[in-house]
Amino acid sequence: MSDCLFCKIRDGQIPAKVVYQDDTCLAFEDINPQAPTHVLFIPRKHIATVNDITEGDEATVGHLFTAAAKLAHQRGHDANGYRVVMNTNRDAGQTVFHIHLHLLAGRPLMWPPG
Ligand code: 5GP
Repeated sequence: MSDCLFCKIRDGQIPAKVVYQDDTCLAFEDINPQAPTHVLFIPRKHIATVNDITEGDEATVGHLFTAAAKLAHQRGHDANGYRVVMNTNRDAGQTVFHIHLHLLAGRPLMWPPG
């Protein structure tokens, strides 16, 4: 059995507030939201970090962006804007090693991040 937290959410072994899913990806509310909208988009395929993405994964990873943009649109974030970000390894603060695209929106987002 996989020891990956997000694989367990994908498989329904750990509950999450799922807001979107299709054959390629799953999106759910972050458990510790940093903005009024904070949703995580994960590929169904387990990929540990951005370093592990291969050429064959390009459509899958691109799909995370189109899914995130659709949800941002549905929630009315297009005009004011939003951020999509994927943290990689220690210095970026990655804590779950199954890639996930954060969608953050609903408040002004500072730049650069801390
Ligand atoms: P990272 O720091 O790896 O880029 O982001 C991991 C994210 O996963 C964090 O924002 C954290 O709040 C979220 N997270 C960690 N554990 C859980 C969980 O069990 N359920 C949900 N929905 N989110 C989680």
